[in-house]
Amino acid sequence: MKDKLLKLRKTKVYITGDHSSLICCPFCKADLQKTDKNYLCKMHGLFDIDSSNRPLLIEKKVLKKNTTEHESGINWLKSFLKQFPKLYYLVWHIVCPVMMLVNGPRMVLGRIKKDGITIDIGSGPERLGREFINVDIFPFSEVDIVADAEILPFRDNSIDAAVSESVFEHVPDADKVAREMVRVVKPGGYIYVSAPFVHPYHASPDDFNRWTISGLKHMFPELDIIESGIRSGPWSAFLMFLAYWLGIIFAFGSKKAAPFVAHIFMLVLGPLKYLDYLFMKMPGAEAVSAHLYILGKKK
Ligand SMILES: [Zn+2]
Repeated sequence: MKDKLLKLRKTKVYITGDHSSLICCPFCKADLQKTDKNYLCKMHGLFDIDSSNRPLLIEKKVLKKNTTEHESGINWLKSFLKQFPKLYYLVWHIVCPVMMLVNGPRMVLGRIKKDGITIDIGSGPERLGREFINVDIFPFSEVDIVADAEILPFRDNSIDAAVSESVFEHVPDADKVAREMVRVVKPGGYIYVSAPFVHPYHASPDDFNRWTISGLKHMFPELDIIESGIRSGPWSAFLMFLAYWLGIIFAFGSKKAAPFVAHIFMLVLGPLKYLDYLFMKMPGAEAVSAHLYILGKKK
């Protein structure tokens, strides 16, 4: 099933016949009927399929609102660059001052069966591997299913693993997303979540919250926590604040220019992030770390 999805996606043709085993109505979780250009829920009406043949399993007004917001300011530049995902992520991973110390999604894959279904919630345009089904609220190029993380279009206990990397801060109700992740994952399945703790405000399209490890664990009482810790350390936190700090000063009073200027400083300061490897094993470093994570197994 999953191989079929990804193969079809690469040829810009998403989903044919047996898709119904994976997706459902995001609102009532009922089966969807496929028509030529839509999916139909008997109770909630039609869901469009876009020009890249992805199902838009989301409220139309939410899709429209987010698209508008994403086309403004620094997000416009990011959205533009994300049309070239390979180049964007290559450059971004090298120069972004946030050091990825652990690869949580890979840790999850190592624990589930080979043909298991793994969803990447809030994937953006990056595909972490062939194994991941990308779910995002924006129809970026590598997204397979356009959906709202607060109302996932998957049935209860149907997914082997769900991962979410730096997404919780951008949703208004992260507790709801956590509950949805737990709902769709099978008992014995895995959930990995990373979220910022010490990180400047960054709207994409908005920014609502920050979490400690205790805060993340508290959101998932249904999980046996297997691992938790630092995803990006104190240097990442320090460099991001320094870049934004300098951005505000050298934007010379322009609120709009500040994040652009900050991104220029990020390119300059970025390489210092590798110093986070020194902090990785220092006890207490999570107290001032940029991003923290939990990995858990559903009871
Ligand atoms: Zn419905």
